[in-house]
Amino acid sequence: MDKRHIPVAAPVFAGNEKQYVNDCLDTTWISSAGKYISAFEESFARFCNVKHAIAVMNGTVALHLPMLALNIGPGDEVIIPTFTYVATANCVTYTGATPIFVDSEPHTWNIDPEKIEAAITPRTKAIIVVHVYGHPSDMQPILDLARKHHLYVIEDAAEAHGAQYHGQVVGGIGDIGTFSFFGNKIITCGEGGMITTNDDSLAAKMRQLKGQGVDPDRRYWFTMVGYNYRMTNIQAALGLAQLEKVDWHLAQRRRVAETYRAHLGKNPDLYLQPELPDCTNSYWMTSLMLGDGLPARDLVMQRMAEHGIETRPFFPPMHVLPIYQNLADGKSFPIADKVSSRGLNLPSSGNLSDEDITFICDCLMDAVKN
Ligand SMILES: *Cc1c(COP(=O)(O)O)cnc(C)c1O
Repeated sequence: MDKRHIPVAAPVFAGNEKQYVNDCLDTTWISSAGKYISAFEESFARFCNVKHAIAVMNGTVALHLPMLALNIGPGDEVIIPTFTYVATANCVTYTGATPIFVDSEPHTWNIDPEKIEAAITPRTKAIIVVHVYGHPSDMQPILDLARKHHLYVIEDAAEAHGAQYHGQVVGGIGDIGTFSFFGNKIITCGEGGMITTNDDSLAAKMRQLKGQGVDPDRRYWFTMVGYNYRMTNIQAALGLAQLEKVDWHLAQRRRVAETYRAHLGKNPDLYLQPELPDCTNSYWMTSLMLGDGLPARDLVMQRMAEHGIETRPFFPPMHVLPIYQNLADGKSFPIADKVSSRGLNLPSSGNLSDEDITFICDCLMDAVKN
């Protein structure tokens, strides 16, 4: 087979990106004020069907501000899935609170709602769910538990723009939602993030915190220790142009995922992330787990790389990382361990042709031979 260069993810600019960014340069509105920021926030709020959307620098600080707004700090605990990207855990650690890890469910790889209750203690303040690789977490049992134990629910939707759970768009299901617009996400600003909520007072507090804590009605009057977490007008110009075409971006991701499924879905040794009934997967990445009888995941990735196909291993779970293994506390997380060691993301850019996907699948079938 021949060799190509296929990245795992690449942004696609198919709309007004250049026009809007050039408009920022032409008008010199390049910093953290300007029409694109408010336009991006308003459209994103409509997209998630929420009252408030707050634009910030990246998806990591989008997770930090909710922790601060909810007064989470030293002595508190926040439940998170162990199978996630490190930012989910770090936003808890930044505040002095402790992330408490919970194992995944085997079919979607998201946090297992049935394992949450055992992790709740009198110190627990919140649960952060992560819609991993674009599939929504099972929100209803999690919301029920949260109500019973008086906990907040934050949705880390960094990978799941536009995903739906029982007809509701993610980001507006829990108390607060957060998104990332990093270069490889479903829509991008280069770097960027967004916070969504229906709660007026939490929104006002997070807005103040992202702008150095300045009193909204009095210049240079600081009533809380804030941060400079603002998004620039240039980032928002890119983001707005991407958001205008979000339905197209989502349709492309779905086309890519469905084309992979048509090629690979009947193979019992390859388990593709599903789309459960009543859920809409945003298909950030087409993700799969290799069956037990197949070669090691890293060997399969290496064989793919020989054909110029970039793939990505699944995240290592938090409880094995040098910075967090002390928090594993003798607990075991067998599903996350398994998923993490056997999973990989296939190239998933919206501009992959069907012919590229056929090539990738041919290479994969070759790479998984023993
Ligand atoms: C990408 C990502 C983030 C962090 O977003 P950045 O914009 O890179 O800071 C947080 N959580 C998850 C699950 C992510 O995939």
